[in-house]
Amino acid sequence: MEEQEILCTIYQEVLSITPEWKAMGAWKDDERSDVHIRVEYANRYVCPECGKEAKLHDHRIRRLRHVDACGNQMILEVNVPRIKCPEHKAKQLDAPFAEKHSMYTKLFETRVIEWLKTMSVNAVAKKVNIGWDAVDNIRKHVVKRSTASAPYRPDGHTSQ
Ligand SMILES: [Zn+2]
Repeated sequence: MEEQEILCTIYQEVLSITPEWKAMGAWKDDERSDVHIRVEYANRYVCPECGKEAKLHDHRIRRLRHVDACGNQMILEVNVPRIKCPEHKAKQLDAPFAEKHSMYTKLFETRVIEWLKTMSVNAVAKKVNIGWDAVDNIRKHVVKRSTASAPYRPDGHTSQ
């Protein structure tokens, strides 16, 4: 196995991304000491609206902060395809490991929420090297995500 290939196999596991998305390459930014991983879609193109087979239109790069590994900040550079459906026009495929407009993977957000149980917003912000407002935003939309799927209770609490 080539060194690059071994790296990608390891990263694929570390990333815990779905098999439809593949880690294709990794490089280290020595200046900022973060690791960038190129992630490509590797499945059929179907319209996210109607599920019908669609043609590839173009790609957009999405940069997502992922959980740290081996002491490095991990940045996913996701090459997200946009497809063209005859009915629904150009649509970007959803990356299942990140919310639509988030700059972070779901796993990163889950980790932040875990830390917030025992640490202050400022302490978590410092730990992951992002702004406190970014941490607060993650908290807000992850709460929204979990309450959206939990049944409503009239006492204002949501069951887990
Ligand atoms: Zn469609």
